[in-house]
Amino acid sequence: MDVRVGSGLDFHRLIENKTRPLMIGGIEITSDLALEGHSDADVLLHALADAILGACGFSDIGTYFSDKDPANKNLNSSIILKRSLDMMRQKGYRLSNCDITIIGEKPRMSPHREQIVDRLAELCEIDRDRIALKATTTEKMGALGRSEGLGCSATVLVVK
Ligand SMILES: [Zn+2]
Repeated sequence: MDVRVGSGLDFHRLIENKTRPLMIGGIEITSDLALEGHSDADVLLHALADAILGACGFSDIGTYFSDKDPANKNLNSSIILKRSLDMMRQKGYRLSNCDITIIGEKPRMSPHREQIVDRLAELCEIDRDRIALKATTTEKMGALGRSEGLGCSATVLVVK
């Protein structure tokens, strides 16, 4: 059995914007805040896609989904994740599990946790008990502690 681990890490600036949707983990969270980026800036899906690509020996998502490409403007990151999963499957791997940690002060993740896990299970086509979603803060230290942005770390295991 060929078992590989992958890790992904992503950060996006958090801005006040009442019109731009706040996308985290493939769901829209009602908020006056939004994540800034060329795509929809879904920090969780970016970290997860990067982990999957990394486990399979691919380059990072920026290589395949350039932030210079106008076609990727406001791109729904579910598409990035789906394409990364397709690349993984083309190499003969399946996703075994993922362990994800959101890092930041805002927004509070606990009210949205179950809905995000449901959405990730649907996108990744795996059981929800194979998805761990946690949240932590930086104890008010640094930029993330001042709610200037949101980070996400993801670890995955893929199996052939
Ligand atoms: Zn990103």
